Amino acid sequence: MSPARRRTLALGLGVAAPTLALALGWLLSGLRERDMLAEQRQGELVQAAELLRAAVREGLEELRRREDARPFEHYGRFYRPPEVLALGEAVALSPLAGEPDDPRISAYFQIDPDGRVRTPYALEPGGSPRAVAVEALVAAAEFAPLRALSFGDGRASDGHALTATLNQLGNAAYLDIAEARRGDAGAAERAQTARLPQTSRNVVSWDAIQSQQAQSAPPRQQASAGPVFDAIQQQKVTYPEGQAQSGIAQGTYLSKPALSDIPQEAGPSLDYSPMAYLRLGDAVVLQRVVSHAGAGSVQGAVLDRGQLEGAWLAALVARHALPETTPTIAPASDVAGCALARPVHDEVLPGLAFCFPAGPPAPAGSLALQLGVLLGLGGVVAAAIAAIARAARRADELSAQKTAFVSAVSHELRTPLTTLRMHAEMLQEGLVTPERLPVFYDDLAHESVRLSRLVENVLAVAQLEEGRRVLQLRPGDLAAQIRDIVDEQARHVERRGFPPVELVLPDEPVVVRSDPQAVEQILVNLLDNALKYAADARAAGLRVALAVEGAEAVLRVQDRGPGIPEADRDRVFDRFYRVARERDAHTPGTGLGLALVRELARGHGGEATAHARAGGGAELQVRLPLAPAPARPT
Ligand code: ADP
Repeated sequence: MSPARRRTLALGLGVAAPTLALALGWLLSGLRERDMLAEQRQGELVQAAELLRAAVREGLEELRRREDARPFEHYGRFYRPPEVLALGEAVALSPLAGEPDDPRISAYFQIDPDGRVRTPYALEPGGSPRAVAVEALVAAAEFAPLRALSFGDGRASDGHALTATLNQLGNAAYLDIAEARRGDAGAAERAQTARLPQTSRNVVSWDAIQSQQAQSAPPRQQASAGPVFDAIQQQKVTYPEGQAQSGIAQGTYLSKPALSDIPQEAGPSLDYSPMAYLRLGDAVVLQRVVSHAGAGSVQGAVLDRGQLEGAWLAALVARHALPETTPTIAPASDVAGCALARPVHDEVLPGLAFCFPAGPPAPAGSLALQLGVLLGLGGVVAAAIAAIARAARRADELSAQKTAFVSAVSHELRTPLTTLRMHAEMLQEGLVTPERLPVFYDDLAHESVRLSRLVENVLAVAQLEEGRRVLQLRPGDLAAQIRDIVDEQARHVERRGFPPVELVLPDEPVVVRSDPQAVEQILVNLLDNALKYAADARAAGLRVALAVEGAEAVLRVQDRGPGIPEADRDRVFDRFYRVARERDAHTPGTGLGLALVRELARGHGGEATAHARAGGGAELQVRLPLAPAPARPT
């Protein structure tokens, strides 16, 4: 590898390596930043999902707790709330009798120990439509496991003795008080002895309820209730067993001033299991078992799934999610397009997922910008390296040309000098016979001409290069100049074994502003080349022609030699350039002749070009602009 190339490589690497390393580092940091942003976004989504899932759990638990607090009596149709009583109305109903006040609940129900369904809704002529609908629903096949939770013995022969008893007691007391207020003396008397039965609540676990069911005689449907107990158990709603919560529910009502005068009497103590969610086919219910003396009723509420999955979840999401992390509610089976999906609630709302959309796009085009800058940088570095490499190649070429030139010039100098010295010595020592003398003088003249031409060419090129030579352009007849030069060269041509040059000149003078010495250098160089390179075809001779073409005088020097290969026809005018050709390897030359010809032609405002001669050989053309015709005196 040449020193120039080594330098280029080192320089290129020195520039490219740190630049690319920096750029790569920058790109990597950009990518890392993007990854970090994505990770951060994912973290935010996970957090948002957990928050929403907790809110769903909390919301459902709050509903469950509220329903859990309801007293047993609410589920009876004629349970009379104190407010109604205070108004003195004849018929009072359970607080659950109307439209459920929580939109998530569609209806309340009770399954009596004998499996009959009871609702708290008013009896209307022909039956309450709500009551009919709920009874039909609870009677449906999916509700069988729920019905199987109730249990009872012979004592509760009518299936709802407990409820009925409580209702009767309550109703009677309320009615008596109401009548007494209206002035009914008998009622007033009865009211004196009226007692509001106060059931007390004994919280028990589902296990306890299950064992009660197992012991009830005769055991009813307990076999099918097993898995349902398990399902309810899994919800892990537990209270410390045996903790009595006597009067909690009633206390709410009894604190009203209107009822303060109703004495209370200790009623039965009932066992309440915790209220728990249960899925039955498509339905979700909240339910519990309340038992007393070997009989258990199932009480609970049917949830409105449409409301839960629609308006309720939407409101919950709107309340808890930030705008940029707001999910949609999607079927759990269709979350392929979500950046993150989490189930909404496994037990109560299975099959639904929070689907978080992909975040906002990465910071506007920062990566694209980085890539663009990188590519640009890469381009600049590549262009710089290419330019350096080109310069190095050029330097290499020039240095190779100079070396070739020096060796060519020294060789070109040595050959004639050796001949001159040898001939001179032989003459000095009288070694030359008189007959050989003319040949000797001829050789001496020839070699000294060759030597002086070489020196002239080198000097001329050097002068032109340094701008020391200024052409002296004067108008003159180019045809006459050319005739003179060809005449002068006639002997030289003859000595090289060529027939006389065929000279073709126009009849009219060809006036050109030229430097006669330069014109001579041009033509002598072209003739020299023809003699050198067409020596094998010397019999065909040389042709020198001058013609006027348009505003130019065109000089053509033609031979029948090997010609100049098309690919080299322009480069032969470069300094030191020689066609790399086997047959020319031993032809003396420096690669300066044609370069000088072109520079001199251009110095005249003209041009020198190489062509193939029709019929074979080389044709070198020199075009010089004609001098403007002198203004005729009028
Ligand atoms: P050189 O000292 O080598 O003759 P030139 O500048 O005069 O240098 O010519 C450049 C090259 O052009 C030559 O080396 C030769 O290969 C080619 N060339 C010039 N004239 C002719 C010609 N008449 N026929 C064939 N090749 C030529």
